[in-house]
Amino acid sequence: MSENDNLQEKIERMKEKYRVEREKRLRSDGSDQFVEVKGKFSYFSQDPYAQDFAEREPIEETTDIVIVGGGFGGLLAAARLSAIGYSDITVVEEGADFGGTWYWNRYPGAQCDIESYVYMPLLEEVGYMPSEKYAHGDEIFEHSRAIGKHFGLYDQALFQTRMIDAEWNEDSSTWKVLTNRGDSLYAKFLVLATGNLTKPKLPGIPGIEKFEGHMFHSSRWDYKYTGSNDRNDLSALRDKRVAIIGSGATAVQVVPNLAESVQQLYVCQRTPSTIDIRGNGPTDKNWFENLEPGWQEKRIQNFTNVTNGVREDEDLVADGWTDLMHKMIEAYREKKRGVDLGVDPTSLAQYRKMEEIRDRVEDTVIDKEVAESLKPYYDMFCKRPCFHDEYLNSFNKETVTLLDTDGKGVDSITSNGLIVKGKEYSVDCIIFATGFEVGSSMQRRVGIDLLGKGERRLSEKWRDGPRTLHGIHSEGFPNCFVMHGVQSTISFNVPHHLDEQAKTIAEILRYVKENSFVRVEASEEAEQFWVDQVISSGQKVSTMNGDPCTPGYYNNEGQPKKNGRYYRAYGGGPTRYFKKLTEWRNSGDYKGLNFS
Ligand code: NDP
Repeated sequence: MSENDNLQEKIERMKEKYRVEREKRLRSDGSDQFVEVKGKFSYFSQDPYAQDFAEREPIEETTDIVIVGGGFGGLLAAARLSAIGYSDITVVEEGADFGGTWYWNRYPGAQCDIESYVYMPLLEEVGYMPSEKYAHGDEIFEHSRAIGKHFGLYDQALFQTRMIDAEWNEDSSTWKVLTNRGDSLYAKFLVLATGNLTKPKLPGIPGIEKFEGHMFHSSRWDYKYTGSNDRNDLSALRDKRVAIIGSGATAVQVVPNLAESVQQLYVCQRTPSTIDIRGNGPTDKNWFENLEPGWQEKRIQNFTNVTNGVREDEDLVADGWTDLMHKMIEAYREKKRGVDLGVDPTSLAQYRKMEEIRDRVEDTVIDKEVAESLKPYYDMFCKRPCFHDEYLNSFNKETVTLLDTDGKGVDSITSNGLIVKGKEYSVDCIIFATGFEVGSSMQRRVGIDLLGKGERRLSEKWRDGPRTLHGIHSEGFPNCFVMHGVQSTISFNVPHHLDEQAKTIAEILRYVKENSFVRVEASEEAEQFWVDQVISSGQKVSTMNGDPCTPGYYNNEGQPKKNGRYYRAYGGGPTRYFKKLTEWRNSGDYKGLNFS
């Protein structure tokens, strides 16, 4: 048998294994397996960080712009709008401060997994140098606050406030925004920057309500329980048996810290993540101080291009993400050079990369049975790739036990602990690192159902699937802009996505201001054209429904979504989507929008 035949056979065998692993995990209840955090479970989403609930009288005011959400999306929108002269901006935010993801996710070990210099926005504007190549959560949270201060957003911000409704008034061309604090805000423009991974979800494990110990979700870390209310304090866990449920990107960052701090840690795994090399390090001050003005935008674009296979002379970030893409395209280059690969380049690249990931597990984890359980059997990008240099080592510690559920999940929860493969493990505390609702309606996730033109709710308009122009506008909802929504793009570096949209919104509102318009709305034709483009070109989330991918939130738990084609992203990838937006806004005629 030739070397190529041999390789082909190995790859075929591996594909069959992937199929078996996927089958094992498919469930008829799909996304319904999760319990919505409400009613008796609502304490899982309560804010453990705010010192107190600041009482205040309801506000009734008129403002130029209401931005809903004070995370990077809202901050970028506010920053870009204030740069063109809008100063009357009210940010409505549920947390007690700016930060969004970085306000809520304060779990020990929280860190950006995209390089800080391209992930942390507005570094040049704010004049900030991240301390590390991959900054930690508290630093990113502080940077969010610094953006808020730099652009003067604190004075008008309404924290601990949730928008509950918004109604369009055709006569006055304004939005009336109602909040859970009884406020009525009359705004000329409304920007929804409510994020995607915001609402914690719980697994519907039988008996979850019976547990008599302590439980919390990773995005609402209970430092009062684990330490002294100080961030990163886990000292109170010294004599505790702790179970963490989940082994996704969050758990991968949490586990090494718990492993150092608890009496006994059980890591309940349904599907292992891919754990590639992190390679963090302090920022070279000299290098940073000598960067040319405009460096950040160039670096951000370079990273997006490289990670999407767009040729760049230089890979500026040169890290695990970009290396991964180089490997993926290397196989195509080999083929182009006439090398007989024996298999198609994609299969070969996938196989090589995943073997490298599995070899790393084998080389790191001492117990071979545990190592085997930690090896991921699916294609790269079926799940969020993870990068960590201590996670796998944690399983060599005596205090850490991997409870691998062989794809089935935790059997049940008892008053005393949890049952995995029929065996009970007594624990004092269960931490749910089980992620966030993705793909549920905006009404359910963020509690918003806009009332637009002609008294029509957004849910009515989108009954058969979302309809947008560029993922930002929806006809019938004038003067309203949605950030990071469906029908836009999927970018590894989310702040890049948010900033391109923020710049676009700012450019439109500059045009509105300069021409004294009061109203801007997508035309039906332009919207239809974009929806058609998305449907025909759209990166199907359903491509991940095929054999190589185990279920997860990327693929709607392995089930086709009703009217799923409307939920696709624009198919050209982020580089082309951003280019399209840039060209569109630079053209100056804003084709597809009606102004009056
Ligand atoms: P995920 O949705 O990625 O992971 C949830 C985990 O819970 C999975 O391992 C899942 O297993 C597991 N799970 C669900 N139900 C059960 C069950 N019944 N029994 C046992 N395990 C169960 O959530 P994360 O919070 O980890 O990450 C969400 C996203 O947040 C990431 O994809 C990433 O985009 C982002 N993130 C980014 C970080 C960064 O550094 N920038 C860091 C952390 C998160 P299964 O895989 O089998 O479904």
